[in-house]
Amino acid sequence: MASKRVVILGSTGSIGRQALKVIAQSPGLAACGLAAGTSAQRLIQQARESGVEAVAISEESLAGQVQAQLPACRVFTGPSAMTELVRLTRPDVLLSGVMGSAGLEPTLAAIGCGADLAIANKETLVMAGCLVMPAARAAGVSVLPVDSEHSAIFQCLSAGRREEVRKVVITASGGALRDWDDHLVDEATVEQALAHPTWNMGRKITIDSATMMNKALEMIEAHWLFGLEASQIQVILHPQSIVHSLVEFQDGSVIAQLGRPDMALPISYALHYPHRPVRPGPSLDLAAVGQLTFEPLGPRFARAVALGYDVIGRGGAAGAVLNAANEAAVEAFLAGRIRFGQIVALVEDALGRSRHALPAGAATLAELAAADRWARAQVAAAVEQTTQQTRMP
Ligand code: MG
Repeated sequence: MASKRVVILGSTGSIGRQALKVIAQSPGLAACGLAAGTSAQRLIQQARESGVEAVAISEESLAGQVQAQLPACRVFTGPSAMTELVRLTRPDVLLSGVMGSAGLEPTLAAIGCGADLAIANKETLVMAGCLVMPAARAAGVSVLPVDSEHSAIFQCLSAGRREEVRKVVITASGGALRDWDDHLVDEATVEQALAHPTWNMGRKITIDSATMMNKALEMIEAHWLFGLEASQIQVILHPQSIVHSLVEFQDGSVIAQLGRPDMALPISYALHYPHRPVRPGPSLDLAAVGQLTFEPLGPRFARAVALGYDVIGRGGAAGAVLNAANEAAVEAFLAGRIRFGQIVALVEDALGRSRHALPAGAATLAELAAADRWARAQVAAAVEQTTQQTRMP
């Protein structure tokens, strides 16, 4: 049997590196294209090890260096590099693990080529679920979640029919600052917010875990992936990150998916779907874990989650606003320009203003891009104002 050919967008990031390990261990999978932003050396090494036919490097000044060291490889660069990579290689599966809204265009291109989507880039669905899901349905391609919670929900859903689902419960670890007092959290440093207790992930998503914006994004992702209403989605705290999510059916039965907190599992599940390959590694030892605990969200976390409910209720470009405002606010925090406590407030503010500033209802790709730019400009202006205020004597 021929191997499933995989293109990985964001191959040098946390998800991409783990995906390449999964592929190297799986005879049924082969990487055929890799895309990175600026990590040229790592991309070159990955391309040599996996023997791909083409790569993309977004940063144009690095393309010459990549081409010189990979003479047999087709090298794409510039803003549409990932889309060109997808069109040339025509993979069976696109694994999208790039951060932020950059994954949207190549994802739509992959659907056009008939590739299944393994989506680790939740921003694509948050921003443009209204375009991606109908396009995938029309093309007959599968959309397979890689996010651990959505992989869990996807697996639990196979226990019943879609119309028999009462609700889904998304679990949240609570991130690095879960047990902090509310008045201290506001001043948390970048290092403190990046110290996630159970998951080892990229910087953006680790900050999103600490603010709980990650769950707002995941609720919207679940809404698009599984056709759920806002009232069918609940978020609870589960510090051990063993129960990845749960589905309650209309007869009261609750199905949960459990596993060690290891992204290789949902990556492998999505790439091999509908099969479950033999994978090495230890079993989940529940006796060793001892306790699985669950708590309701406190007011600090409920504030971020409320933004997720708001976006699902509003539809249109609201997801693009939430996503872009959050990306801009997290960047400003990581750059030391705003306090931790300002991240959610800035997103809340941009989302509130967008109600009057942007048209309601279904949005086109151009309108989503405009909403994205509008939200970034809102946050940039607010950040600038804060910076000036702190500069004043
Ligand atoms: Mg997740």
